[in-house]
Amino acid sequence: MMPVISLEKVTTAAVVRVEDLTTRERMAALYASDMPNRFRAGSVEATQVAAWIVQGAERLGAEELRRRAVFSYGQRLMEMGARVPVHAQAAHERRFPRAGRLDQAERAAAGSTVWARLSASALARNADAEVEGGCPCGGGGWIAMPPLPEAPDAMTCPVHGREATRRHAAGQAVSA
Ligand SMILES: [Zn+2]
Repeated sequence: MMPVISLEKVTTAAVVRVEDLTTRERMAALYASDMPNRFRAGSVEATQVAAWIVQGAERLGAEELRRRAVFSYGQRLMEMGARVPVHAQAAHERRFPRAGRLDQAERAAAGSTVWARLSASALARNADAEVEGGCPCGGGGWIAMPPLPEAPDAMTCPVHGREATRRHAAGQAVSA
């Protein structure tokens, strides 16, 4: 008789390895885990942090974890460029309503890279970023600025401008 393959077993067989998660995926996983909102740095064992990361990653599933990680990095880049669209800020606040908990998750995720280095696949995804609900640059890499005398009429998009400058450095045309 053929063995019956349980679909549930198949889908849960893919064990989450911390090494295979990007820093922001770890952050999103920690936020979704049973991690307390606050704890002192160094007061929690690495094995506990790893367990929270795996717990949160399993709760969210790979696809949702990836979405949250990519959008949160886009949000961070837009914050650094002070270009956060209103809809993206709203989506970010819905996704991570507790700023203090997000800070804690971000610190713990950064700390985890010391004892769980990123695997090659995680490193390859680590800088992926996107703006939820559409970027002001429309994906072209340039954000139009209000016309002011002696000011540039466009700035590189903090998220997609990296791609535009990379293409330029590679000798390919950049369309403004
Ligand atoms: Zn953009």
